[in-house]
Amino acid sequence: MSLANGRRYLATPGPSVMPDRVLNAMHRAAPNIYEGEMLQLTESLWPDLKALAGTRQHATIYIGNGHAAWEAANSNALRRGDTAIVLATGRFGHGWAENAQQLGVEIALTDFGTAAPIDLERCEAALRAQPNARAVLVTHVDTATTVRNNIKMLRRLMDDLNHPALLMVDCIASLGCDEFRMDDWGVDVMVAASQKGVMTPPGLGFVFFSEKARAVAKTSDRRSPYWNWDNRADAEHFYMHFYGTAPTHHLFGLREALTMITEEGLEAVFHRHRILAQAVWAAGAAWSQEGAFALNIQDPAARSHAVTAMRLAAPDGTRLRRWCEDHGGLTLGVGLGMAPPGSPQADAFFRLAHMGHVNAHMTLGALAVMDAGMKALGIAHGSGALEAATSAIAQG
Ligand SMILES: *Cc1c(COP(=O)(O)O)cnc(C)c1O
Repeated sequence: MSLANGRRYLATPGPSVMPDRVLNAMHRAAPNIYEGEMLQLTESLWPDLKALAGTRQHATIYIGNGHAAWEAANSNALRRGDTAIVLATGRFGHGWAENAQQLGVEIALTDFGTAAPIDLERCEAALRAQPNARAVLVTHVDTATTVRNNIKMLRRLMDDLNHPALLMVDCIASLGCDEFRMDDWGVDVMVAASQKGVMTPPGLGFVFFSEKARAVAKTSDRRSPYWNWDNRADAEHFYMHFYGTAPTHHLFGLREALTMITEEGLEAVFHRHRILAQAVWAAGAAWSQEGAFALNIQDPAARSHAVTAMRLAAPDGTRLRRWCEDHGGLTLGVGLGMAPPGSPQADAFFRLAHMGHVNAHMTLGALAVMDAGMKALGIAHGSGALEAATSAIAQG
């Protein structure tokens, strides 16, 4: 018999759990977009968004999803015929590169596979091979493999080699979950979106850019009026921020989400994500003592604090996912980019998101439902996972 009725937990890596406060802030009549509250509310977003990104430079909001933010960044920063060095650590790194390629950019790809972060040696080789590359594209957290890349290290390497490329980073999964400091880490372009750590419905893409990127983009031959970030950053009239009608209700939601992050404090937000992730890893380490369970990323220092990719023996990943949804009210994410979609092997992989509006009882509850599911389905697994997870929380 199902025990799924009750509040469901959508633990896929986006859209993430939306706080009632965010949803309630959106439930209201249309505001005037020519004067009054909406204009002030929008002005209040910029400093908070920049604080979240760790930048004092430029922030823009596009009405669109993460793919829109990718394209906005690419069409401002890259030109037809330019070379972009792509350091791919999972499906999303390839996706951003494909977008650039379709805009006429040459891609110099280094593929780090599906279970490892970027490493210094191969990054150095990639940079040396393309001394005139216009940009380096990398994901901070790749949501498919759930690897977290060391952006600070990459910047240091680029500086050591005197490489002039723009450093462009995809933080769509990590913003508001994993620590990120755009200015301190020397990042030139950062893209993000509303529906993951920022706890707001899908529909807003964020593009942050440095003064250097802004200057470089002046010579771009790819930016149409709608995507041009200068028009938005310099908006003389309110409508220019969005190049048309503002996404009013998303902005009400975003305002509330940023207020919640400010109230909690960014350090506390990062800490919460770190401890919840450690609880997941502790459970994973226990499960993997017996049977086929494995966490995708071996090195804890290279694991995301926002989402964790896992596997069993096919088809047990899919069986477990279904059981959790049908019997526990918990929806896990499917595996992405780990095996050809639809192949038997794809049924080995799944992901647990712990991003955004998530707390101890939600993560412990998710782990407990997964543990129950493995027992119910007769999937071999190590014992003591819940004990290990609760200890991680207790120590946090
Ligand atoms: C979700 C995600 C994307 C794609 O965002 P969409 O809103 O689905 O277009 C890109 N990159 C990363 C790292 C993501 O997590």
